[in-house]
Amino acid sequence: MKSLHLNLNLTGVIVLLAVGVLVPVMLATAVGIVALVIARDAGGIVTAVLVISFAVTAAGSAVITVVLTGRKARLARMQADFVANVSHELRTPLSAIRLYAQTLQSGKLGDDPKRTDECLATILRETEWLDMTIDRVLSWRAASANMERMHFAVEPVATAVNRAVTRFRAMVEPDEVTLTTRVDTRLPVRHDAQALDSVLLNLLTNAYKYTGRIKRIGVDARDLPDGSVTIEVSDNGIGLTPSDAKRVFQPFYRAAGAESGASGVGLGLAIARYLVARHRGATLTVRSEKGRGSTFRVRLPAAETPA
Ligand code: ADP
Repeated sequence: MKSLHLNLNLTGVIVLLAVGVLVPVMLATAVGIVALVIARDAGGIVTAVLVISFAVTAAGSAVITVVLTGRKARLARMQADFVANVSHELRTPLSAIRLYAQTLQSGKLGDDPKRTDECLATILRETEWLDMTIDRVLSWRAASANMERMHFAVEPVATAVNRAVTRFRAMVEPDEVTLTTRVDTRLPVRHDAQALDSVLLNLLTNAYKYTGRIKRIGVDARDLPDGSVTIEVSDNGIGLTPSDAKRVFQPFYRAAGAESGASGVGLGLAIARYLVARHRGATLTVRSEKGRGSTFRVRLPAAETPA
């Protein structure tokens, strides 16, 4: 409703400018040009040039106003979508938690320990999703104000990788995903373990969200001969077109079709790239093929050796 209102406002401004400014400006330009052509003396030429310059300035101002208004409307629309998406992201796990808690409370499960355990496991899983969404919104706020505090240490990344994998396993049903991990890295690199954990958890949850029913997800952390370290998260999911692959790191960007597959707010990769960029020389990139899957890759440069 809100975005419809904004669209109408924008259309109104454009129509107003077209009728109220652009038409008189075009007339004035035409008059100026004719006056210039038929001008016989210096006075006539100066008047014609003044009319044309006035018309061009007015047209320029009108175009700038339209562009600025359009940008403002787009921003407001993005904010409205963001609030709606975040509410949806929070409500989905909350509904599941309520449902399972009510089932436990109703006593319907009697003393069936297996089903009771299943209920509790689902509640815990949904709580993890909830926690991650709240974490993401707060991280975005910190990142956009450039106030995310980093705690760097020079050590192997295995701890951060394993922690993200453990957290991810706690968020999904055990037989829902085939998760293959290879953590073969010993080189010390300068990194913030908590930030890296959060980046990898985001890549893992995306791999989960944007993959069909049969989910094969891989994590591969390895040392490179030059002393740097790479961590890849791959999936057999819906993949990305080359143009989407270029844009998925932009805040609020969601590739076409993402909405139908999974809920989201379009911030995870923007935050991930920001956190990776806080590591000097580090990169976060993606290779993807539409319909076949994606591989997101974090590369951390070799730690500087003390002189
Ligand atoms: P969100 O998942 O909340 O929409 P992200 O910033 O994490 O936000 O991702 C941005 C977009 O990038 C997603 O909406 C989706 O279109 C696309 N995307 C991210 N990860 C993958 C993936 N593994 N496979 C396919 N598309 C992906």
